[in-house]
Amino acid sequence: MNLDTVKSNLEKKGYTVFIFDTEQDAVSYLKSTISGTDVGFGGSQTLTDLDLRHVLAENNKVIVPDFPEEGESFRSTADKCLDTEVFLLSANAVTEAGEIVNIDGTGNRLAGSLYGHKRVIYVIGENKIGGTLEEAIRRARNIAAPKNALGLYRRTPCAMAVVEELSRRFREQYQKDPEEDQLAWQDFLRDLSEEELNTHCYDCKSPGRICASLLVHWQKPSSAKAEVIILKGKAGF
Ligand code: SF4
Repeated sequence: MNLDTVKSNLEKKGYTVFIFDTEQDAVSYLKSTISGTDVGFGGSQTLTDLDLRHVLAENNKVIVPDFPEEGESFRSTADKCLDTEVFLLSANAVTEAGEIVNIDGTGNRLAGSLYGHKRVIYVIGENKIGGTLEEAIRRARNIAAPKNALGLYRRTPCAMAVVEELSRRFREQYQKDPEEDQLAWQDFLRDLSEEELNTHCYDCKSPGRICASLLVHWQKPSSAKAEVIILKGKAGF
């Protein structure tokens, strides 16, 4: 995948795009460019891996639904995120032509990317980029969503089909159970190829289903500035 081609295509769709060689470079840029404001997060393993919740909190008010403050809930925190100046999220897939694809269970992440913020910033690993729109949607449904379900220990068909085998391999590799080291489990899942993951979406009716809506940004919505930060290498699911 030629990242410069993707960058150019995203720019034609209205995004400002940066490519960073290392996660540290991306974090330094975000820390320097987001300051003295309020920042809402859409649920993202990439943002968690980069520890942006803590890094940006040094100079901003950071609101993360997955980590509500005492006395708050996911819902009340997600509501507050809809009203921030800056909104940060990742994507499940980006096409070579520059379409951005995301799946969401509660809808707060998709809502935040659509309207209501002065500035929307996507932070996206190179591993999620490339191919056609059809391939991107297939990736979002059949790779990103099952990995997220496994990472959240959901008892969904996509996760239950492989969790025993993947847990066994994780124990062999790390000499501990997945529940003992959440970060290592997330790293293990992130690094699995599609063949190693060996599951897919069952379009389930499970109460733990994490997929409710799929959003494709054909181009940048006109209501806000939007940036895409591309990280070389693997980041997130
Ligand atoms: S719809 Fe259900 S089976 Fe499909 S990826 Fe989402 S949680 Fe897994």
